[in-house]
Amino acid sequence: MIAKIGINGMKGMYASDHYNNEDRICELEGTELPIADRYTIQIDKNVHLNVTEPYRYMNHHCSPSVKIEGKIMTAIKNIDPGDEITFDYNTTEDLLACPFDCKCCGKKIQGRMHQNELSAILK
Ligand SMILES: [Zn+2]
Repeated sequence: MIAKIGINGMKGMYASDHYNNEDRICELEGTELPIADRYTIQIDKNVHLNVTEPYRYMNHHCSPSVKIEGKIMTAIKNIDPGDEITFDYNTTEDLLACPFDCKCCGKKIQGRMHQNELSAILK
């Protein structure tokens, strides 16, 4: 895995090897923190992994190439060397430290809890 600047001008993480769909790619490593920041990945309730490079440069995509369950990263499509590695932030994060508008669909990506909180506020 390598971090580099993609065609969109943003830093991302790109595959250096080939992976087949459903291959287990790696177990993420990092310091476990109680709060999220822009480089953490949520691995459990109130546990945020401060991942190292190049994993901290993984970008969001609504049709991602990998999924993350706990610390385990698994391919969900065939990945060729040079392909960008992306995952769906809404599948791991309760609330994003830095919400943003998705580049692929324009949807606001803020974490899976946001819609629940919003509807609780509106009641
Ligand atoms: Zn999208």
